[in-house]
Amino acid sequence: MTHTPRKRFGQNFLHDHNIINNILSSLQAKPSEHWVEIGPGMGALTKPLLDQGLNLEVVELDRDLVTYLKDKFKDQPHLQIHSADALRFDFSALAKDNEKLRVIGNLPYNISTPLMFHLLNNSYCIEDMHFMLQKEVVDRICAAPGSKKYGRLSVMMQYFCATELLFDVPPESFDPAPKVMSAIVRLVPHEQPPVQINSLKMLNRVVVSAFSQRRKTLRNALKKIIDEESIIALGIDPTLRAEVISLADYAKLSNLLKEDDLNLAEDLDDLL
Ligand code: SAH
Repeated sequence: MTHTPRKRFGQNFLHDHNIINNILSSLQAKPSEHWVEIGPGMGALTKPLLDQGLNLEVVELDRDLVTYLKDKFKDQPHLQIHSADALRFDFSALAKDNEKLRVIGNLPYNISTPLMFHLLNNSYCIEDMHFMLQKEVVDRICAAPGSKKYGRLSVMMQYFCATELLFDVPPESFDPAPKVMSAIVRLVPHEQPPVQINSLKMLNRVVVSAFSQRRKTLRNALKKIIDEESIIALGIDPTLRAEVISLADYAKLSNLLKEDDLNLAEDLDDLL
């Protein structure tokens, strides 16, 4: 079958075998594991994953590709193909008996941030996630305080996971080639949250306010929600800017606000 890549589904198919091998060797997959691949496309990663003898579930939105995959892998007993939108898919239903899933995806870039947070909503059943994303986004996810790339996405992702950029992937590794550089990120959900917060909504609120005007001091950026004395009382210098404040300090600041409901998907809407 020939398949014309569909832009609206963010289809950029991997065809560089060195990159595919590098991804596979950084995964260290074991036959006993339960894997989920998001957006398998034409199976560039699916095939080598299955060759490792693991149990694999794939979630693909494009029905033509689902038909293609069903035919291509019809003799594979360890593969389940789900014709579904990953953004609405209940990943926790795949994890049986307290097992943890390992997730991989060369994600459509337009849905990558909402999809990551959708998965993190169920992070208790996820061992780790490896994603191909725009390098720009990976840099922001992994950035430390003080870096120019450090922002809302860094703070919120690092609250949920340990983050690591594994390697860059140039445009010509894909067909069609995207305009930008890509990179592989490893996300390992924390077993225990790294900081204590009363509410995710409040953490998000503080971070959104702090970074809304990057060049303002914390005192000015947070003026409407936290007064200067309260910032000082936490031992945080109110004349600093948002980009040098650690997750631990954002957690303390957020705990000054009143408690609220916890609904990650809704809270993070404006991160996207
Ligand atoms: N993994 C393949 C394909 C990557 S292209 C490879 O590396 O070659 C991205 C894939 O995600 C495409 O197959 C596209 O159809 C699929 N996709 C796009 N949006 C999706 C969604 N919301 N849910 C599931 N799959 C999606």
